[in-house]
Amino acid sequence: MTHEAPLSPETQLVHAGSDPGRQGGYVNPPVHRASTALYRDTAEMDASQADPLKRGTPVYGRFGTPTGRAFEEALTVLEGGHATVATCSGLAAITTAILAYVRAGDHILVSDSVYLPTRKFCDSLAALGVETEYYDPCATGAAIDALIRPRTRLLYLESPGSTTFEVQDIPAITEVCRARGVATIADNTWATPAFCRPLELGAGVDAVVHSATKYLTGHADSILGAIVCTQESYPLIRGAAIRLGQCAGADDLYLGLRGLRTLGPRLARHQEQALDLARWTAAQDGVASVLHPALPEDPGHTLWRRDFTGAAGLFGVELDPRFTKPAVEAMLNAFRIFGLGHSYGGYESLVVPADPAAGRLPGTWSGRGPLIRVHVGFESPADLREDLRTALKALHTA
Ligand SMILES: *Cc1c(COP(=O)(O)O)cnc(C)c1O
Repeated sequence: MTHEAPLSPETQLVHAGSDPGRQGGYVNPPVHRASTALYRDTAEMDASQADPLKRGTPVYGRFGTPTGRAFEEALTVLEGGHATVATCSGLAAITTAILAYVRAGDHILVSDSVYLPTRKFCDSLAALGVETEYYDPCATGAAIDALIRPRTRLLYLESPGSTTFEVQDIPAITEVCRARGVATIADNTWATPAFCRPLELGAGVDAVVHSATKYLTGHADSILGAIVCTQESYPLIRGAAIRLGQCAGADDLYLGLRGLRTLGPRLARHQEQALDLARWTAAQDGVASVLHPALPEDPGHTLWRRDFTGAAGLFGVELDPRFTKPAVEAMLNAFRIFGLGHSYGGYESLVVPADPAAGRLPGTWSGRGPLIRVHVGFESPADLREDLRTALKALHTA
């Protein structure tokens, strides 16, 4: 879609990557279930294979289809990137992006609050001769500078952090890393491009990774990932994706694109309901703290206000340290509307216990109370509050 004035994010969410002229006039692209693409002759075959980074001409299903291209183009516009590589899962986006950069002998910096499977992958890189050092997610600017060694190749961050929600100073970190020749990758799953654009913060990260499984798809019916790249990082990352055999399924790409079209109003509702419930929860007996960057008392609030335009529907509830595991289990088992399950970003509310201390630097979470992660969906706020009240009662009486 072409337009003279810069389009607002709401309009981009609805139209980015859409080209009805390319798809017989219909608003949505078809689901291309494809492996083989046929050429008219050898000249066309040779031309299509001349540049494997080029998109558009069909080569073979793994290299991309029009359904995938529509999803990738949409996400590229939304993040303000150059091009996007869709992957079969969010974790595949993360591992592919990291593998695109690292070589034996490299040192990488990874924030201590990353998604646990990301941490496990980084730990496994030791077998390939890559050393991972976890840094305090609250460290910034000069503190990051001091951690950079001559062999530091990459800094990987997630803000806010998984389960503990620390907000990082992405502009300061990217400025330092750019000046020192260290590449940066940010996991933007929580905020989505609707609320944060790390490619445009400070010197800008080199790539944004997404678990599109969460808010982007939004209905708990697909596993999908994406890497949004700059002009510089795209050849490196697309090359790695090709070597690793990365691609996404046709139905998942379609569902990801369809989810993007309603992301604006869905996120607005998630934000409103979650903030409401977070405020109420913070005032309840037995709750030690609520980890939600949009709450003014949250340690990350100032950075969040500066760098984000909204908050997603996912936050943490730290209970009083006096509660034992059986009491927390009684609480979790007392929920009737909140489902007990992994993931987030779908229409239904979820809770899951979290144990940050299991995958953190010593000392960064010790001594704190049991933690529950809450995803707020679209049920009635009154019903959700009542469900939480009942669960907290079970916590106290267990
Ligand atoms: C869920 C999640 C992932 C992994 O995504 P999958 O699509 O489940 O592979 C990565 N990062 C974050 C922050 C997540 O929440």
